[in-house]
Amino acid sequence: MQMTTPSQFHPPLLPGTLYLVATPIGNLEDITLRALRTLKECTVIAAEDTRHTGHLLRHFEITKPLISYFKFNEAQRSEQIIDRLRRGETVALVTDAGSPGISDPGERVVRAALAANCRVEAVPGPCALVAAITVSGLPSDEFHFAGFLPHKSGQRIKKLQALAFMPGTVVLYESPYRIQKLLQELADVFPERQIVLARELTKRFEEFLRGTPAELIAATAKRSLKGEFVVLIHEGEREPTDQPNEHVTSAEDSSESPGR
Ligand code: SAM
Repeated sequence: MQMTTPSQFHPPLLPGTLYLVATPIGNLEDITLRALRTLKECTVIAAEDTRHTGHLLRHFEITKPLISYFKFNEAQRSEQIIDRLRRGETVALVTDAGSPGISDPGERVVRAALAANCRVEAVPGPCALVAAITVSGLPSDEFHFAGFLPHKSGQRIKKLQALAFMPGTVVLYESPYRIQKLLQELADVFPERQIVLARELTKRFEEFLRGTPAELIAATAKRSLKGEFVVLIHEGEREPTDQPNEHVTSAEDSSESPGR
């Protein structure tokens, strides 16, 4: 058997590389060893919110220069980040929580870095969509992540109607301010489907609510829904295929989701 030296397991950061570093979505223990080392060893951290990331860095006793990188300065900051990469610096990009680029800033600087022939590496870790789908009990062999719905009512309904035809589980992010509204919309568009609300994943008040939209509306009528939510919608009937596929699960087969 070929032995691998420790240095091959822990290669030093490569000059001129943009590292996309995933950070915890609630539980600080979810940060990876590689994320910590990347944050310690990089030249500079580009953060969505420097104050928020400052708390994370203090918790892990990391001192590092921070620059802000968020939705409204992405274009200008991307250029500055590319300049730094060209000078051989290592830049770690983090957002407030989870994986950069997933309903978060990041995509633009990645495209700019690739266009400039700079190296881009993922330092993978927490992501609310992955955590939610894996514990939802809904089919995870195929799913469609749609992120946040638009804010305007008409556009939301249109988007949901389009999602009704997507194969696999549909996964949405939603804010606590619109979660009750979303349940009403789901009752209109998906009255028969099983829904899973994954609330406050990895945090103290983590909770999973399962049922049809009407059942969830009834279950939550007398309480305020606080915190962060991932909303998962069971797939509709799959088109019959010529090839029998024993992994295909019908809506009836999997409607009894495991409780928690
Ligand atoms: N980039 C992040 C990721 O990798 O999951 C997502 C960032 S997006 C701005 C924030 C949304 O993600 C929240 O509104 C919520 O829908 C979802 N989210 C983040 N943390 C969560 C948690 N702990 N529990 C449930 N949903 C969460």
